Amino acid sequence: MYCPQCRAEYRAGFTQCSDCRIPLVAGTPPEPAMRFDPTLDPVVVLETNDPVQSALAKGLLEDAGIPFLILGQIARLVPDIDPFLRKWVRIQVPRGREQEAKDVLESVLRPRPYLCSE
Ligand SMILES: [Zn+2]
Repeated sequence: MYCPQCRAEYRAGFTQCSDCRIPLVAGTPPEPAMRFDPTLDPVVVLETNDPVQSALAKGLLEDAGIPFLILGQIARLVPDIDPFLRKWVRIQVPRGREQEAKDVLESVLRPRPYLCSE
């Protein structure tokens, strides 16, 4: 049994998805399409203004075959303090694959150790 909306798998005996409140479908979820379907109730798994981190995250999600959506947002900071535009990026995945994506992104999300060369 699985939920046709979030693709969560359920044991036999369940008839409704506890998250989406819709009837489950028999069988196993079909292979997810790489094309992102916005009806999949996306959740943000990473929010960063570090282009290296977002590029890394994109590569990891692609390797794992998890569809994702990137929302970019340019925030203009106070010009006197910081003349640069920092691009904030939000990476979203379908709710049903949130945990999978978080596992994949763990290495990116983990704070980098502070390195001191002195
Ligand atoms: Zn569901």
